[in-house]
Amino acid sequence: MRKSLFFILILTAALGFSGCRLEAPEFVSLSFELVGEGQIFPGSGTKQYELGTLIELGAVPADGWKFSHWVGEVAENDASHTTVLADRDKTIQAVFSPTATGEIVEGPGGLIRQRANGTRVAQRNNGETDIEYIMIHAMSDAAVNPTNPYRIERMRAIFDEYGVESHYVIDRRGQVYQFVEDFLAGRHAGLGTWQGDPRLTNKMNNYAIGIELMGIGTEAEMNSVIGAIANSRIKPSDRGYTEEQYQALQQLIEYLRERYQIPRENILGHDDYAPGRKWDPGMLFDWKRIL
Ligand SMILES: [Zn+2]
Repeated sequence: MRKSLFFILILTAALGFSGCRLEAPEFVSLSFELVGEGQIFPGSGTKQYELGTLIELGAVPADGWKFSHWVGEVAENDASHTTVLADRDKTIQAVFSPTATGEIVEGPGGLIRQRANGTRVAQRNNGETDIEYIMIHAMSDAAVNPTNPYRIERMRAIFDEYGVESHYVIDRRGQVYQFVEDFLAGRHAGLGTWQGDPRLTNKMNNYAIGIELMGIGTEAEMNSVIGAIANSRIKPSDRGYTEEQYQALQQLIEYLRERYQIPRENILGHDDYAPGRKWDPGMLFDWKRIL
């Protein structure tokens, strides 16, 4: 066995030196890797393929995970079934991401009853019976981390920094986090007016539940909010809202409307309440998806 291998090496070298073309097929290595949990077909690891072979690829997520995308030179990076051409050595990654549980979980650091500065979040004047409105907001870490603006841990820090807090935050994959209990009057609306109702002028916090979608508006909407430099570094895919967020928001609204008997017309945007002062959820938010 070793002898024959040695012979092949000598022969290869001799043919190489004499300028002959070796007619045996050439092979390339393809490495398949997983990020997250799932399975990849034809299997993870490194495999040899004859040069020019077209290989079919499949990515099957594990329970609680979904296929996100391929990294590397595949025909379609967003399709769970695609092909890769073995025209040279390549590494291909299948990326899976965890799916939202569909359950509301407490925000990292727990519910906010007492703020970082020691003050307590106020109770609504008449408890839960005062819950009449739902206000939609958007938030992100774009001003400080324009290229990585959606870490949930940063949202709580932003609440502290700005002296605000909303009841719910929905991340980009549709996970709903609760930060403030519904019976408390979180500070998310601030100064504004709604339909001329004097009860609501500058006092919407007492009557509304605040829902933050992790999201970033258009370039024009964000310029004065995060500054032109940070704004220019935002990835286009980080602007607007995701399909998963709309689905989670629909579910959350359905639950809140039923629980507190909130009429459909009492769902508004921060930009409806404080136009000019607040941009969120802005032009990229599709109201048809929830109304
Ligand atoms: Zn807002």
